[in-house]
Amino acid sequence: MTNCPECDASVEVGAMIAGEIFPCRDCGTELEVIGTAPMSIERAPKEAEDWGE
Ligand SMILES: [Zn+2]
Repeated sequence: MTNCPECDASVEVGAMIAGEIFPCRDCGTELEVIGTAPMSIERAPKEAEDWGE
């Protein structure tokens, strides 16, 4: 378990693998699993600047 870097909500990443991208259940921010030992997540880079707008 770790926390969303955007909203600090608890995020369950037990079954995730490094490189996996998933949305935070709380704020919807796209998160990327940076590493699993130790568990580390960051906001996923946006590929298009106007994504979602
Ligand atoms: Zn969040």
